[in-house]
Amino acid sequence: MWDTIVLGSGIAGLTAAAALAHRGQRVLVLEQHLTPGGQTQTFQRQGWTFATGVHYIGGVGPFPGPDGQFGRLLAWLSNDQLAFAPCGNPYDIVRLPGLEFGIEHPEAAYRQRLLERFPHQRIAIDRWFGQMAQARRAAMSLFAMRGMPAPLAWGLKLWRGAEVEAMSRRTLAEALAEVPDPQLRAILGARWGDYGAPPEHAPLLEHALVTGSYNAGAWFPVGGPSRFAQTLLSVVQGAGGAVELGASAERIVVEGGRVAGVDFSQHGQPHSVRAPRVISAIGAPNTAACLAESAAREWQAELLGFKPGLAYLSLYLGFEGDIEAAGASAANVWIYESLDIGSAWRQPADEDAPGLFVSFPSLKDPRSGDKPTAEVLALCEAAPFEGWLGRPAGERPEDYLAFKAWVEARLLAQFERHFPALAPMIRFHELATPLTQQHYVRAPQGAMYGIVMDAGRLASGALNVRTPVNGLLLAGQDVSGAGVQAAAMSGLMAAAVLEPALLRQLMG
Ligand SMILES: Cc1cc2nc3c(=O)[nH]c(=O)nc-3n(C[C@H](O)[C@H](O)[C@H](O)COP(=O)(O)OP(=O)(O)OC[C@H]3O[C@@H](n4cnc5c(N)ncnc54)[C@H](O)[C@@H]3O)c2cc1C
Repeated sequence: MWDTIVLGSGIAGLTAAAALAHRGQRVLVLEQHLTPGGQTQTFQRQGWTFATGVHYIGGVGPFPGPDGQFGRLLAWLSNDQLAFAPCGNPYDIVRLPGLEFGIEHPEAAYRQRLLERFPHQRIAIDRWFGQMAQARRAAMSLFAMRGMPAPLAWGLKLWRGAEVEAMSRRTLAEALAEVPDPQLRAILGARWGDYGAPPEHAPLLEHALVTGSYNAGAWFPVGGPSRFAQTLLSVVQGAGGAVELGASAERIVVEGGRVAGVDFSQHGQPHSVRAPRVISAIGAPNTAACLAESAAREWQAELLGFKPGLAYLSLYLGFEGDIEAAGASAANVWIYESLDIGSAWRQPADEDAPGLFVSFPSLKDPRSGDKPTAEVLALCEAAPFEGWLGRPAGERPEDYLAFKAWVEARLLAQFERHFPALAPMIRFHELATPLTQQHYVRAPQGAMYGIVMDAGRLASGALNVRTPVNGLLLAGQDVSGAGVQAAAMSGLMAAAVLEPALLRQLMG
């Protein structure tokens, strides 16, 4: 009998479990994969270490107030075992045909550089930053409501509801349409890949929240993102809890209308564990798939009705030599092949990616050693992989392997065109496809950031931390929106529902 069972060991599951452990709870974490951490996990190939779903994190700098709040929470959660290194300034570089622009922190510096580069666009720039501040406020209210008891959420809705609704419905494309200069427009919209919704559908609220999280700087975990699982799970274990790897939750057991435990399979064997509370951080549709049809039927149907967001391809590169001297830096590079920054890769075998995100994690982590790496990402439609998605792990037919090899070669050539000095230093490359993402974190259709990010999702009442099933709580990026910080906060909110004393920590 456990105090609480947490499903999933991504950052949301980890923060929930560690927070409960700090309150003295014995928590069992069930993770289907053999490596914990979800998208914060890392992997090795021939001595090179690659991160999967973390390139930069905001809110962890040594600042008082909200700019450093996430860092203070992580320090407390991990017993001061997590440290972060700055990603430099600029921390994001937007590369468009004929123009390269570095995005700096603090936000005032970013704004100043824009005014210097586009002196005739002052009105548009001022309007843009005003809207960003308003949309960020709305985002904070919306996601806070998702963790609050209904009467408080109702009160906040009365106060801020109109602004939240307006900012949820307003798309990034609508805001960009008010910017006359096409280059400026492309720079302001370039980072939609941080949450994976093209401008046409992206709620301005999510764009403001995610890009704004870097306004005080961007940081990378010292020792790599796997430090999240290492440090937070040791806190869980220190309080008498445990983590089971290769443990796939099959059924959330509900008895007499309340959660009673979880049935899971591990190495082909069925297991059953009991607990009066379950925090599910495995994604909203995956959670619904673990419930009997009769448990909160309408809610389940709503969760299952959400479509997965865009998928992605990721090329992992290992180098030999001094990549910094050859033009790499700790800043991420957002590359677009044209000023039309709004589309995902539709036909990866037949055309170049319209946009690339390039990150050099080894230059961000002071402990990375002498094996330099890069990760090249391109958001893509899942459709070209449709026929192969959902096949059992390890089943990779010849036609898939041939397709993958072709796409890998294309992506590699595109990278080499943009970074010619790095090309001769490449010693290793490997492509991850939507099948990889589906296999390692059970992301439906290989989606990069869970369910599709649009106004409908933000308006839904189904994605709250509290669920209609007594004792079952929901956490993770589907509740909070994309990103390590957001997902972690949803885990903490879920823990605070069970242990209200944690609220003081959350507010501090
Ligand atoms: C390529 C990429 C780059 C990214 N870059 C950044 C970045 O630079 N900065 C940033 O802030 N965010 C980034 N993100 C987003 C960020 O990684 C995610 O939003 C966040 O980590 C999601 O955390 P989570 O806990 O909600 O989900 P996950 O990390 O997906 O965790 C869910 C866990 O549940 C497990 N699971 C699923 N089903 C079951 C089951 N039935 N039983 C048991 N376990 C199960 C999965 O294996 C997984 O471990 C990136 C994401 C990707 C994919």
